[in-house]
Amino acid sequence: MESGIVVGIESTAHTLSIGTVDSKGLPSASFSAFYRPDEGGIHPREAANHHAEQASTLVKQLLQSGITPDLVSAIAFSQGPGLGPCLRVGASVARALASKWEVPLVGVNHCVAHIEIGRQQCKMDDPVLLYVSGGNTQVIARMGDRYRVLGETLDIGIGNMLDKFARGQELPFPGGPKIEKLATEWRAYNMNADLDDYALPYSVHGMDLAFSGLLTAASRLVERGSELGAVCWSLQEHAFAACIEVAERALAHTGKSEVLLGGGVACNQRIRSMSRIMCGEREAESFVPEPKYCIDNGTMIALLGRLEYDQGRLTRLDESAVDQEMRTDQTPITWP
Ligand code: AMP
Ligand code: MG
Repeated sequence: MESGIVVGIESTAHTLSIGTVDSKGLPSASFSAFYRPDEGGIHPREAANHHAEQASTLVKQLLQSGITPDLVSAIAFSQGPGLGPCLRVGASVARALASKWEVPLVGVNHCVAHIEIGRQQCKMDDPVLLYVSGGNTQVIARMGDRYRVLGETLDIGIGNMLDKFARGQELPFPGGPKIEKLATEWRAYNMNADLDDYALPYSVHGMDLAFSGLLTAASRLVERGSELGAVCWSLQEHAFAACIEVAERALAHTGKSEVLLGGGVACNQRIRSMSRIMCGEREAESFVPEPKYCIDNGTMIALLGRLEYDQGRLTRLDESAVDQEMRTDQTPITWP
């Protein structure tokens, strides 16, 4: 197949983003717009309206960056998993561009895109991915021609849990970074604090995780008079330790020796350091891509689109409907 630029469109949740990779898969920066709810959590319809309003601005920015339609060989888009109304906006933009520029569509799996951009950016071969984002929490590893989910949350995503806890404390969205700041500041003055004084449920079930009980218990600790900074600290310690424990078991089961962090929560310094410590103890290595590639971005969609396009895997128009529940192991991995 002729090898030009692949454009990628991401719209699974609060981020609309357009990015590109060149014929070798080398990325350039993406153009993004973030939906921020005035209050409360993400409302799928409102987020979709935001994406629909911002789409033409982002396409304009892409064209102004020197990408002309004749350089483009395919349009990739996040086909799932995600919020239906948001996914449909991205898919519509992709179909419109593909038809106007007369290039094929490539519908891709958002979770697999996080893995592939991480592998590329961190120059990793065969990692266990700890994918910690707003809506998803999964431990994933490649087995033959699929990425398999070895463990995942049984209720809400870790980022949603952090955001919901923060909202209850009247901290603005997104709550994760605010919780990190409060926890770090509190910890700096309370180096000898004991986690038992701020006990919370520890939510590992075999290889799976759960966060809603932790959310309720943490909110209750604050109601009963514990300092907010202390509870933020304990909440992070419990939630992150649970994720790292499952990642460690995945390393042991699979015999792999690299951990890759991905998703917005991977911007957090504490989960990074826990992952480094765990890996250090097992002679493994922990990697995190730059924040712009941890959060949702169009570039990673373009990269996975490139990999699939190079294998001749295109998406016909009548197959381009979005799939909110798309599973990580639905995508055949036929590249090295
Ligand atoms: P994503 O769904 O991958 O786009 O990531 C968004 C999620 O990442 C939100 O739930 C944020 O609260 C969370 N997040 C972003 N930065 C941090 C951080 N420094 N610590 C914890 N969570 C974070
Ligand atoms: Mg994501």
